[in-house]
Amino acid sequence: MSDEVKLSRRHLLRGRFKAVTPAAQLPWSLPWPAFVADCSRCGDCLTACPEQIIIKGDGGFPELDFTRGECSFCGDCVSACSEQLFRPTDQSPWDYIAQIADSCLANQQVYCQRCQDSCEARAIRFIPMLGRVPTPSVDAALCTGCGTCVADCPVGSIKVASPAAKEHE
Ligand code: SF4
Ligand code: SF4
Ligand code: SF4
Repeated sequence: MSDEVKLSRRHLLRGRFKAVTPAAQLPWSLPWPAFVADCSRCGDCLTACPEQIIIKGDGGFPELDFTRGECSFCGDCVSACSEQLFRPTDQSPWDYIAQIADSCLANQQVYCQRCQDSCEARAIRFIPMLGRVPTPSVDAALCTGCGTCVADCPVGSIKVASPAAKEHE
């Protein structure tokens, strides 16, 4: 039996074909198909996360909800997992960065700089513009994807995701 057929049978048996790729996976986690193939949905990572940002998503698989808080990159979710679902934690946890939607208050000429204040990495800067309120912009080189700014935005205009996700919207 080919590896592909074995994997397909394994997925069928575990009923995990329909698990939709979440907007935000756990830090250091393997690509989604490999992750769902072996995640037992035990919930140990949920319990381990001191920030309580891990939730049970589609199919009961863990994913992150940055509206609950930020990732401190403590690695406790990785340590708590008894499966082989994560890359080494001395590598970068992900390529996620903050992305600001057009619904940002600055686009309605409302003064707000909450996201800048919440970002410890100083990745959000406001560009002064003649005749209008300053607009936020994310420095991809500085943003760690921690998600702190997500919950702090009063109108929910920020999401943290892979830059590739933005290109495919
Ligand atoms: S690294 Fe720490 S804060 Fe981030 S999701 Fe894992 S347990 Fe939670
Ligand atoms: S995700 Fe974290 S590092 Fe990136 S802009 Fe938001 S607060 Fe700053
Ligand atoms: S906190 Fe939200 S609304 Fe305020 S400037 Fe930042 S993205 Fe715009």
